[in-house]
Amino acid sequence: MKAITVEPHKPETTRLEDIPEPDPRGGSVLVEAVSVGVCGTDVEIVQGKYGWAPRGRTRLVLGHESLGRVLDPGPSGVLQAGDLVVGIVRRPDPVPCPSCAVGEWDMCRNGQYTERGIKEIDGFMSERWRIEPEYAMKIDGSLGMLGVLLEPATVVTKAWEQVITVGRRAFWEPQTVLVTGAGPIGLLAALVARQHGLDVHVLDRAESGPKPSLVRALGANFHTGTVADVGVEPDVIVECTGVGQVIKDSIQAVAPGGVVCLTGVGTGGRTLGLPTADVASNVVLRNNVVVGSVNANKRHWYKAGQVLARADPAWLAGLLTRSVPPEEFMRALQRQAEDIKVVIQFAQL
Ligand SMILES: [Zn+2]
Repeated sequence: MKAITVEPHKPETTRLEDIPEPDPRGGSVLVEAVSVGVCGTDVEIVQGKYGWAPRGRTRLVLGHESLGRVLDPGPSGVLQAGDLVVGIVRRPDPVPCPSCAVGEWDMCRNGQYTERGIKEIDGFMSERWRIEPEYAMKIDGSLGMLGVLLEPATVVTKAWEQVITVGRRAFWEPQTVLVTGAGPIGLLAALVARQHGLDVHVLDRAESGPKPSLVRALGANFHTGTVADVGVEPDVIVECTGVGQVIKDSIQAVAPGGVVCLTGVGTGGRTLGLPTADVASNVVLRNNVVVGSVNANKRHWYKAGQVLARADPAWLAGLLTRSVPPEEFMRALQRQAEDIKVVIQFAQL
């Protein structure tokens, strides 16, 4: 079968190649790939900056934002042939650490977790893949191709849970939310905040393209410029850019008692005039919390399914801006100006 594979930490090694059918030890459920979303992590792996092959091998099957159709449900009795499923990405570490021991593998403390398509387990960019039934999330058939948005939505439902948990340390009734960055994570964060009935503002560099209208279609406000230009004092800021200046501005703009949730991963981005103690004083004197959030456990996958089910399907479809066949995978990995979510499509529904 065809698969998109890469030798991690070696740039320019990504290729579409023939590999053996998936190993039955990978799970009792056999799935036909329908589509796989591409995100910044995939681009980093392809550029040789991240990723780990399975032990004893040099190449990794790429892809962690899956959507597939069950070919053989195996003996579990939970799934049926034809069901649409999305594969959970992370597996608990083998020790396990206390977090993994209680099923909160997203909070793994020893770093020995594994991740499909990222860390030591093959991903979903192959014509067929196998999965353990307990890690196959069945989605409502009416979602169809939109199911590929489930994995990015889990990142947001976990982040939102973190925000709420932190906020409730004191009396707290959040009203205003600022989302920085209108990529897939930012737009889905805006969706979740709107589903909670909050006043939502989204900041992005794009002045044209689909992002402004997608934000406004949610009943949220779209802004360009700086965080200060938004002109509100947000109770919550969900930071999705990973840009140093935006992070600094967010910490300074959040309301007293407010929460800044960092979901973007950046590097370098030196910010001039950022005395750490001054920023920290700001946080101390206003009781702010800056919380980082990554990955998701099964509870967040379940909540993400609810978020997508409640959303307007036409709005969700607007996030899927480009689809390319596996043979043209490099086109999917090259960012274009108006991209939001690009998918590699293995089969039609
Ligand atoms: Zn762990």
